[in-house]
Amino acid sequence: MAAEIIDGKQISADIRAEVAAEVKKLKSKHGLTPGLAVVLVGEDPASQVYVRNKESACAEVGFNSFKFELPADTSQEKLMDLVYELNNRDDIHGILVQLPLPSQLDSAEVLLAIEPNKDVDGFHPVNVGRLAVGQATMPPCTPAGCVELLKRSGARLEGANAVIVGRSNIVGKPAALLLLAENCTVTIAHSKTRDLAGVCRGADVLVAAVGVPKMITGDMVKEGATVIDVGINRTDEGLVGDVDFEAAREKARAITPVPGGVGPMTIAMLMKNTLKATQMTLPAQAR
Ligand code: NDP
Repeated sequence: MAAEIIDGKQISADIRAEVAAEVKKLKSKHGLTPGLAVVLVGEDPASQVYVRNKESACAEVGFNSFKFELPADTSQEKLMDLVYELNNRDDIHGILVQLPLPSQLDSAEVLLAIEPNKDVDGFHPVNVGRLAVGQATMPPCTPAGCVELLKRSGARLEGANAVIVGRSNIVGKPAALLLLAENCTVTIAHSKTRDLAGVCRGADVLVAAVGVPKMITGDMVKEGATVIDVGINRTDEGLVGDVDFEAAREKARAITPVPGGVGPMTIAMLMKNTLKATQMTLPAQAR
């Protein structure tokens, strides 16, 4: 039987509506409006689209959004000064520096300068550490979106064998830690993994975050598995994921499409993290 299609667009809309309801409460109870600052350096067209999408999501949920556009030849010092200024502003609760930065800039140093409680991307080493010790306050948005899709599609996570293919710092590794926190038995596979097909066939939950079109074939999917396809690959056939969707959906219990699966979740989780960052500025009993 063909798998249930996990509707990332709908789930993302549900999350944005939940965030909007919380924002109303924050405004009426505490006079507080979440503020997200997005810093864009240079004119990379893809980054400009991402930043526009973030601005419109902020407007939809009732956040204030602040866009800071700097020229491509901005110095490290100037960018760092801006980050320090944003760290100190009370009306800004989340700071996001759009990556990639132009090559003269040291992005690791910039990310390290962001105040961890305003690091809504979840890339600061303090937040990576919190995630590693099971206290994820600001989980990175894409893997957090994957877990949300799993939960809301009814996947049973406790005790499940979860295989994540890909070990990047922004998707694979944090996805593994988040699934471990959900009591999955986690395996991380990568380009040096022996018998990748065999490893994947053991997965009740299979997360593909590789960047190779359709590399997860139908025979790598266990009967009844839940498959989350993070991959975004531009091909002659259009946008495709890392999973051979048609073949995998014959085996899986539920599966995300590309587009319309994980993609829309990243911004929804960014809104959720910004809300959380705002709530964290209140005394614990008032949250
Ligand atoms: P990276 O290139 O940083 O990491 C890819 C990972 O895949 C690496 O760990 C690599 O292994 C592994 N890998 C590569 N080839 C193979 C192979 N043949 N077999 C097994 N493992 C392999 O990618 P990202 O994590 O940044 O992104 C992964 C995909 O997710 C991309 O398509 C990207 O566009 C998409 N993406 C989607 C987002 C969304 O919002 N939906 C957000 C972020 C990413 P090794 O470490 O050994 O090299």
